[in-house]
Amino acid sequence: MTDTAASLRDRAARLAPRGDMFIDGRFSSAASGETFVSEDPATGRPLTDVARGGAVDVDRAVRAARRAFERGDWCRSAPGERKRILQRIADALDERCAEFALLESLDGGKLYRDTLAYDIPGAAAILRWYAEAIDKLYGEVAPIDPRHLAVITRMPLGVVGAVVPWNYPLEMAMWKIAPALAAGNSVVLKPAEETPLSAIAFAELCSANGLPDGVFNVVPGFGAEAGKALGLHPDVDAIAFTGSTAVGKLFMQYSGQSNLKQVWPECGGKSANLVFDDVRDLATVADRTSAGIFFNSGQVCSANSRVLVHRSIAADFAELLRARADAIVVGDPLAPTTEMGPLVSTKHAERVRGLISRGLDDARLLTGGVRPVPGLDVESDRAFVPPTIFADIRSDSELFREEVFGPVLGITVFDEEDEAIELANLSKYGLAASVFTDDVRRAQRVPQRLAAGTVTINGVDAIDVTTPFGGFKQSGFGRDLSLHAFDKYTGLQTRWYAD
Ligand code: NAD
Repeated sequence: MTDTAASLRDRAARLAPRGDMFIDGRFSSAASGETFVSEDPATGRPLTDVARGGAVDVDRAVRAARRAFERGDWCRSAPGERKRILQRIADALDERCAEFALLESLDGGKLYRDTLAYDIPGAAAILRWYAEAIDKLYGEVAPIDPRHLAVITRMPLGVVGAVVPWNYPLEMAMWKIAPALAAGNSVVLKPAEETPLSAIAFAELCSANGLPDGVFNVVPGFGAEAGKALGLHPDVDAIAFTGSTAVGKLFMQYSGQSNLKQVWPECGGKSANLVFDDVRDLATVADRTSAGIFFNSGQVCSANSRVLVHRSIAADFAELLRARADAIVVGDPLAPTTEMGPLVSTKHAERVRGLISRGLDDARLLTGGVRPVPGLDVESDRAFVPPTIFADIRSDSELFREEVFGPVLGITVFDEEDEAIELANLSKYGLAASVFTDDVRRAQRVPQRLAAGTVTINGVDAIDVTTPFGGFKQSGFGRDLSLHAFDKYTGLQTRWYAD
C-alpha cells in the first residue's frame, strides 16, 4: 500500500531522531553544551536539537579516529573481514530504508518517494560496491633487476575528514565514507548543518553492526566552526570535501596553514546542455532537459542549468520546456503525487529568489519567478521556489555565470557549433555537460572539446557507482565513485627487498 502524506506525518511524529555527536562508538553532547535546531523546510517545524560541534569536539573525534587506526583492528584487518562488516551495514541500511528515507525527506525537504527509491538504496548500494571491491584490489610487482624485489601496495592514509553538503546528505557522505572505510581508514564526518540527521543515525547503525569504536565518527555543527576545525586539525591526513567552490578553496588554505593534509574538493557546477538542430525528437530532448534541471528542486551540482540551443529550434524548444515546467506538481514532499518540493531552507530559497529577481533585469522570464508557487497546499511556503525559466540569457549575465543551485534554467541561443562549444566552456566550472544530437560524428567530435568531467550524449546527468564523477577547472579535482576513488584514500608504498 502506498504511504499517504498523512500516514507519513504520523510516522514522522514517532521518529524521535537523535541530534547528538557520535564519537568513539557512543553518543555525546558538544563540549560547550550548545545545540542548534534542525528544521523541516516544508513545514518550518523543528525536528530536533542538534549538538553544535566545535574545535574541542573535532579534536576528540580525531583522537578517537587516530586511536582506532593505531589499534589496527580495522586498518590491518583482512580486506575480506572489512568487506563482511561493511556488507552487513549495507544490509541493515536497506532493512531500515523507509525510516532513513523519511528522516532524509524531513530534514532536507526532499521528496520521500525519491529518498525511498534512490537516496537510501543508492547509499547502501555504494557501500556494498566498495565492500565488494576491497578484496579484489591487487598490488604490483615492479619489473626490476631480479636480484631484488619491489612490491607496490596501497596503504590507508590514516584519519580522513569528510565534509559534505545537504543536497544528498547520506549519499554524498557515502561517496566518501564507503571507499575510505573499505580502504582501512578511520573517518570523521562533518555533515551539513542543514541535514545532519541521517549521518548521525547511520553512525549508530555502523556501530551496532560491528564497526569497531572510533573508526567512524560524526561531529555535526557549522562550517565555520566544526568544518574549519577539521580542515585545520594537525592530525587529519586528508579532507574529502563536497560543497561550494568558495569553501573548497578554504580547505586548500586550511591545509597550507596546518599539516599539508591532502584535500580532495568536489565543488560547484554550471553545466551546459547543448541542443543541436539535427535532433529529430525535440520533445524527448525537452523531457530530459527538464529533468536535468528540476530534479531535486535543481539542487544538483551537475544540474544542466545552461541550455544552449540552435537558433532555428530555440523558440519551439523554449515552448516545450515552459510547458513541462508549468506541469510540474510542486508541494508537500511527503505526498506521493508531488514532483518538486521545497528548497533545503528558507535561507537558501531567499538566495535563489535574489538571483531570480536580479535576472529579471537582464533576461526574459518565461515562467516561474519570485512569486510564491500558486495554490500550494503546505504549512509554510517560505522555502518553495517555482520551476523558473529565463530566455535570452547573455553570456556576461550573473545567471549565465553563477551557480543558482535551485530550479532555475537559462536559455542562450547559438548559430554555429564552434560558438556552442565556446559558450559551454565559458565558465569557471567544468563539472558536467550534455550534448543532444543525432549526428554521430558531432556526438564524437563535440565532447572532446568540452572541459567537463562527465559528458552525457543524448541524456542528462548520467551517473553510476562504476563510473568516476568529478570536475575540471574550479569544479575541483580528484574523482568520487568507481575504483578511482581509492586513489584519494590510499597512498602507494613501495617495498624494496634487497638481494
Ligand atoms: P557549502 O560549501 O556551503 O557547504 C558544504 C560543507 O562545507 C558543509 O558541511 C558546510 O558546513 C561546510 N562549510 C561551510 N563553510 C565552511 C568553512 N568556512 N569552513 C569549513 N567548512 C565549511 O555548500 P552547500 O551549500 O552545503 O552545498 C552546495 C554546493 O555543493 C554547491 O556549490 C554544489 O554544486 C556543491 N556540490 C558539489 C557536488 C560535486 O560532486 N561536485 C555534489 C553536491 C554538491
